[in-house]
Amino acid sequence: MGNVEFEKIKRPENIKLPYMLDFYPLEDEKNTQVSQFFTNLKKGRLTTTKCKECNKSLWPPRIVCPHCLSDKLEWIDLGTEGELYAFTETRLGAPLGFVEDAPFCIGMIRIGGLLISARVDGAKYDDLQIGEKVGLKIVELEDGRVFYRFRKIG
Ligand SMILES: [Zn+2]
Repeated sequence: MGNVEFEKIKRPENIKLPYMLDFYPLEDEKNTQVSQFFTNLKKGRLTTTKCKECNKSLWPPRIVCPHCLSDKLEWIDLGTEGELYAFTETRLGAPLGFVEDAPFCIGMIRIGGLLISARVDGAKYDDLQIGEKVGLKIVELEDGRVFYRFRKIG
């Protein structure tokens, strides 16, 4: 986890998000069967599940393989550095809880053989280039929940 950045973030206090509109999922064992993903994330590891039957890596993490329906899955690390495959910038129309963050960048990141979408911090749209390296960034909410982003490191 050498190249992982952690940041505590605050969300705007002037809105109370209804559960269904809360972008950040409930992460504990009571609420999700992939709570291991968030436990790993807290330790600086971006992980997902891989099917032991058909050998496919799955994103997002699953409890059943959508390709062969096996539930024999294992956790694998995706690494902490990816490559920017595509990106855009949200200027208007950000979802509730993110309005004050706009403008911000969102990218498709190639990492661990998968393509995943995530926010890309630390850069404006004009500063980013397809193919450049981005590093894992983990944000922690005030209630202890965590989520992944990436940041420009090139
Ligand atoms: Zn499978």
